[in-house]
Amino acid sequence: MLLLLPLLAWALLLALYAGRLITLWHEPVWRCPVLVIESDDWGAGVLSQAVALDALRTLLNRHCDHTGRPPVMTLGIVLAIADTEAIRAAAGREYLRIALDDVRLTSVLAALRAGIDEGVFAPQLHGMEHYWPPAVMAAAQTDKRVAAWLAGDALPRTEDLPSPLQSRWTAAAVLPSLPLSIPEINEAAAAETAAFQRIFGMTAQVAVPTTFVWNDAVEHAWSAHGVRCIITPGTRYEYRDAQGRPAGDGRSILNGERGQGNVLYVVRDQYFEPALGHRAEQGLAALARQTGCARPTLLETHRFNFIGESANAAIQELDSLLGKACAAYPTLRFLSTKEIAEAMAHKDAELIETGLHQHLSAWLARIHNLPRFTKLARLTGLVLPLWLLGKFAA
Ligand SMILES: [Zn+2]
Repeated sequence: MLLLLPLLAWALLLALYAGRLITLWHEPVWRCPVLVIESDDWGAGVLSQAVALDALRTLLNRHCDHTGRPPVMTLGIVLAIADTEAIRAAAGREYLRIALDDVRLTSVLAALRAGIDEGVFAPQLHGMEHYWPPAVMAAAQTDKRVAAWLAGDALPRTEDLPSPLQSRWTAAAVLPSLPLSIPEINEAAAAETAAFQRIFGMTAQVAVPTTFVWNDAVEHAWSAHGVRCIITPGTRYEYRDAQGRPAGDGRSILNGERGQGNVLYVVRDQYFEPALGHRAEQGLAALARQTGCARPTLLETHRFNFIGESANAAIQELDSLLGKACAAYPTLRFLSTKEIAEAMAHKDAELIETGLHQHLSAWLARIHNLPRFTKLARLTGLVLPLWLLGKFAA
């Protein structure tokens, strides 16, 4: 009877975690370390971006992986910004925009295109705007900060908007935010994907929902216009709650899982924001963690790091990170997120592992990150058979 007790405890623990253990088994296993710098909020906006983009392009070109390829910085692109002057002229009655291919933004678009042509920038769809325009217009009626934002700088910074309003796919003029209608979503997704095609001469295949708020209708609409991959922090938020925080159903999303319209999810849950104090070491630690779990490393970093006072320090830190990453990982690969998604979708044999031993070893590393699982496995002695499995996988 006493001998049966641990077995019973193991069975209970495994049953409790069964769903997550199975999904972790199915998550693609990468054969080599992969690093991509994912940077959001670029595009229509302040002209100082052009200098920042030129500096980043030069920096990226200084490094390469063992195949001779330079690192890729994916750029979450905002395709338009409020035309504050025109809105003022219309007495605030109408929302008008400046698109990224407007003559006023020539320098920014030229800097983007130069990096794209050299293969160090990969544009991704962040949104037509980094907000839902009717929500911003409505908020301006009651919120002085929003009214000032709309009446202020010729090319305002979306980072200066109140956080809830930076979500595009929910109407956050009131909290909790209100859902958009399906026709509204369909029309907006059609317009932004068409604008991306017009401006970059390519279909937007990777989309990064602003503030990670989106829903099934957005996935359907994006997919209908060519989006194949959506970046997620490992979950999906669908609205802003009464306190303005992103909120959703809390389900966890893994690499390679599929959403509506068969879009493929790629997880970006590692952060490198030098302006917030992140050093190269933190980026390297993220690369070590992800590689240990046989996952690609998508490092999130925003535009704000590279414009303004922190820009030089951020550039230096990124430079240091890339140099140290190449030195520490001789088999490191620099890929774009689109390529990462395609490799997982097609089970590319050069990059994705199919061997049982490697699969087992990645799975064992991954399950240790499950909340409380390792603690319970220790408590019940399940660590022992898991350790033996690890020996078998080695
Ligand atoms: Zn953003």
